[in-house]
Amino acid sequence: MPKIWRFFDKADLFECYQCARCTGSCPAVIVSDKAIGPREMLVRCLDLGHKGVVEDEGLWYCTTCHVCEDRCPQKIPIGDLMVALRNAAARRDNVPANVVRALEMITKTGRAAITHQVNAMRAEYGLDPLVEPDLEEIDQIVERAGFKDVIRF
Ligand code: SF4
Ligand code: SF4
Repeated sequence: MPKIWRFFDKADLFECYQCARCTGSCPAVIVSDKAIGPREMLVRCLDLGHKGVVEDEGLWYCTTCHVCEDRCPQKIPIGDLMVALRNAAARRDNVPANVVRALEMITKTGRAAITHQVNAMRAEYGLDPLVEPDLEEIDQIVERAGFKDVIRF
């Protein structure tokens, strides 16, 4: 069995009856015409198998918000399918450069973006400074997830 179907039950693909409620609520589809919507992702997996989608950059526009499965009358865990497909894409070295850069930032600084001026802005609104990330804990998570075996900076 391909590794991907250990994370998502392939039988769930056949429960979809193409109502498109999931795609109608997907924020990735709303903001980008490059995103592959959840309904289309399911259809492509049925038509082409996961190999037919893991090379498409549109896979990486999903925010894993899981709204699609909240809206799905069949309760198909589409967010899990997206994660499983991205794991498969990463094992094939198919990770967009901007995603690799963000992952590198997280592993090295604990944050996905530069935050130099954030604390000054927070102070203007009377907010406490950001809590410093625990880099040791992040390192342990990265290690346990086997992250560095798959993503190369
Ligand atoms: S989990 Fe991904 S596919 Fe589902 S609604 Fe959110 S962004 Fe769209
Ligand atoms: S909401 Fe569920 S049943 Fe409807 S198209 Fe999306 S996955 Fe299929």
